[in-house]
Amino acid sequence: SHPSYEQVMAMIKNERVRFINLEFTDVVGMAKCVTIPVEQFADCVEHGKWFDGSALEGFVRVAESDMYLHPDIATFAVLPGKVRPSSSQRKGSSDLSSDSEILGRVICDVRTPDGERFDGDPRAALQQAIEQANNLGFTYRVAPELEFFLLRYEDKTPVPLPHDRGSYFDLSTDFAVTVRSQMVQALQQMGIKIEASHHEVAEGQHEIDLASGDVLQIADGLMTAKYVIKAIAAQHGLYATFLPKPFYGVNGSGMHIHQQLMSLETGKNAFVDEHNEYSLSDIGRGFIAGQLAHARAMCALLAPLVNSYKRLVRGYEAPVFVNWGRVNRQALIRVPRLGSDPHSSMRIELRGADASCNPHLALAVMLRAGLDGIERKLTLPPAMDENIFLHDESERLRPRAQLLPATLREALDLMSDDALIRDTLGDSIYEGFIDAKSIEWTDYSQQVHSWEVERYLPVF
Ligand code: GLN
Ligand code: MG
Ligand code: MG
Ligand code: MG
Repeated sequence: SHPSYEQVMAMIKNERVRFINLEFTDVVGMAKCVTIPVEQFADCVEHGKWFDGSALEGFVRVAESDMYLHPDIATFAVLPGKVRPSSSQRKGSSDLSSDSEILGRVICDVRTPDGERFDGDPRAALQQAIEQANNLGFTYRVAPELEFFLLRYEDKTPVPLPHDRGSYFDLSTDFAVTVRSQMVQALQQMGIKIEASHHEVAEGQHEIDLASGDVLQIADGLMTAKYVIKAIAAQHGLYATFLPKPFYGVNGSGMHIHQQLMSLETGKNAFVDEHNEYSLSDIGRGFIAGQLAHARAMCALLAPLVNSYKRLVRGYEAPVFVNWGRVNRQALIRVPRLGSDPHSSMRIELRGADASCNPHLALAVMLRAGLDGIERKLTLPPAMDENIFLHDESERLRPRAQLLPATLREALDLMSDDALIRDTLGDSIYEGFIDAKSIEWTDYSQQVHSWEVERYLPVF
């Protein structure tokens, strides 16, 4: 279903595309792009497009800053009208014909001048993890759930007021439904399949679920979905935020990820064995055990902001313990109850990530962690389910259950001790990520926050 080179060229012509965004992602997950006039596209597909690799800030040594963007033609899409630079912002510049706004985009691999994969490219790290899975006889399919808040924009500043609060509840909820359905339609137009969308528990909070797909396609799709959702919100004067915990005392926004390994040999879901407990195969059990074993160390990649750790607290349907369960919503990993056909419905849901992560890196370490559990035949501890968990108030289980890191600093320290994660990311990304995030942590920890002023200043 991916377009071929000829189909892309036909699309460019038919839709009168004038410019093409060459997209890539930096190590900390920021979307980047270089825009070229469409006339350069054929040459770019053949030879790559030179760019200054220091755009991948901090992760390229000066001597290596000549890099090339190589389009992955399968990812080509025309940006839907609502996702282009706002036509209302351009009203003044009527000398630009409307054609000039027609943009295509294509996701690129970053390569060195010799045509090698650049070891600072997160997409390359994921491709390498995929190759390891293929070598073991598997493909990795995932389905993420994207949660976000829609906020009101006042004086060009997003204010922390959920959009659909207050007396206009019914009317404005209808409005949010319209906005959400436009988001879904724009994503579909760009070839991203959507499973469902709904209002989340908190006021102003929404969720869009991507349909299960090949991991590379989904990681690319998540980068796209984040800016598409923001662009459509902006069209309505709203601000869409994926910040994991925008408001104290209110559910945060996570990015749960449903995972399946498919056998390359049989094409079947490798997590299913009807003779096992919960129909969960030994491969499935090993995969969960591996992700639990590396959970604390990979948390910094899955939940990479200072703010992420304010979501990972008790009482808001977010995970706190390193555990797994079937119905337990506080579990880090959940194996949902099966539908009638275990082969299509069996999946392993990891609930720790949030959408501020670099999806290519997060999914690469999740995959390698799961494979590690299979290869080392790690033992899966018993499921901790809601009835046990809540009724005991976990006192009995608590000493046995490990906690997820409580701060970004703790998460970075745990990541520093994990050889598998270093191997998955490669030295350059591993070191670049820890450096960048350590600076972020230091900056945060040296600030004097309003909580301290309010709590301490009147007293001390
Ligand atoms: N918002 C919750 C989280 O932070 C999840 C809520 C849900 O989907 N059940 O993970
Ligand atoms: Mg959901
Ligand atoms: Mg949800
Ligand atoms: Mg979920």
